[in-house]
Amino acid sequence: NSSRGQGPYIAAIDQGTTSSRCIVFDKDGRIVAVDQKEHEQIFPKPGWVEHDAAEIWTNVQAVVDGAIAQAGLSKSDVKAIGITNQRETTMMWDKNTGAPVHNALVWQDTRTDVLCREFGRKGGQDRWRRETGLPLASYFAGPKIRWLLDNVEGLRERAERGDILFGTMDSWVIWNLTGGVNGGVHVTDVTNASRTLLMNLHTLAWEPKILEAMGIPESVLPEIRSSAEVYGQAVGGSLAGVPVASALGDQQAALFGQTCFDEGEAKSTYGTGTFLLMNTANKPINSYNGLITTVGYRIGDQAPVYALEGSIAITGALVQWMRDQMGLIQSAPEIETLALTVEDNGGAYFVPAFSGLFAPHWRSDARGVIAGLTRYVTKAHIARAVLEATAWQTREICDAMAKDSGVEPTTLKVDGGMTSNNLLMQTLADFLGTPVVRPMVAETTCLGAAYAAGLAVGFWSDTDELRANWKRAAEWTPDMSEEDRADQYRKWLKAVERTKGWID
Ligand code: ADP
Repeated sequence: NSSRGQGPYIAAIDQGTTSSRCIVFDKDGRIVAVDQKEHEQIFPKPGWVEHDAAEIWTNVQAVVDGAIAQAGLSKSDVKAIGITNQRETTMMWDKNTGAPVHNALVWQDTRTDVLCREFGRKGGQDRWRRETGLPLASYFAGPKIRWLLDNVEGLRERAERGDILFGTMDSWVIWNLTGGVNGGVHVTDVTNASRTLLMNLHTLAWEPKILEAMGIPESVLPEIRSSAEVYGQAVGGSLAGVPVASALGDQQAALFGQTCFDEGEAKSTYGTGTFLLMNTANKPINSYNGLITTVGYRIGDQAPVYALEGSIAITGALVQWMRDQMGLIQSAPEIETLALTVEDNGGAYFVPAFSGLFAPHWRSDARGVIAGLTRYVTKAHIARAVLEATAWQTREICDAMAKDSGVEPTTLKVDGGMTSNNLLMQTLADFLGTPVVRPMVAETTCLGAAYAAGLAVGFWSDTDELRANWKRAAEWTPDMSEEDRADQYRKWLKAVERTKGWID
């Protein structure tokens, strides 16, 4: 295969919200092989979203074997395995059998909003913001653990006996990869731990007073490690014996893969949801404008690097909804074809507050609306409104980021499945009023996990070497009058107000 650089290689596993994939990279950060498998999205009730963690582990094994076979590699060609994952998605399993005790509660699941309100009765929504960088919201893992302990029969007793482990998907994949019931290591990394509402951002340790207030026994929690270090060796499968050497939540992995290593560098990833992260170096910056403070990454025993984050729950998921729930398109890319049959949104604004509103509003009582409907509006206008929703939500985050940090981003680095939509990327540049750039390797999430694993085993020597791999593939520049932008933004914000307070 002439397109393949010289080995050796790094394999990255991305356990994502809609699918699991494995990508093999060469030393130049180029893709050598990809395998991917979707898993079922389970919606037991309105607002509830679950995954079958056993199905996910089966898929992870299949895509690892698939990618390695496709590239024609043997395990000695692969120097390390990196892990990245959908964040906050919470599961618990029996450490003696390896069996999940319940479906995983996905980050978008809102069933813990009542619990969060209860926790916030003392100290309000920002009760633990100083320690954790996060508002109390159903998005994060801690309250989901509490829900499982309260609702799975006998689980609290089993947990207190020491038979039960909690993990986000990084922990679940690493535990299984490194042997499962036969000595699997129970760890998580600082980035994933920073999304639980249970870790103190300053000490990088579980916070006893929060564990007590939430009623979570420390025995279920994994050990918190850095994002780039060898946690153990793979046992079994096509990569048996290869070091498992990184873990990063998917958005932090994308920050790393986009080589945003300097203070002020930012990226935005367009997948199921959208997540804009800005590197704030070694200081956790408190947000006063609805963003969250999170760990960006930690390489070995170096000082941790923090980030400010704007999280949007529903962007690509709205396109999926148009396809699967409404049947208005057959495939995700068709949204662009349909939207291009009209000039504008026909006056319609679609605010997809399906899981409440995340940043910068943090309203779990919000639900979706389409505002501005008249008989004039067609499905093509709605398709436009769907794409514009992603761009306006990004605009709200950028405004908050500028207020919190005092830095106006001059360009935005983007990645993720939705960036193949040209109309969306142009709309984004128009609504932000800044250029939008996409790198050659759009798979920055996997790339970031590979980079971190490669650094841990000395495959790459330092972050400067990684930065040299970043190459621009596409750029969109703003082409919209200031007046139009302001007028439409005002309408968008009006529509956003109408989503609030739907759930009493
Ligand atoms: P994740 O990692 O969250 O699973 P991906 O980065 O794989 O997400 O992106 C998949 C998402 O992008 C899906 O929600 C899909 O609806 C959306 N998507 C994919 N292609 C397009 C497109 N051409 N236009 C708009 N949305 C798209």
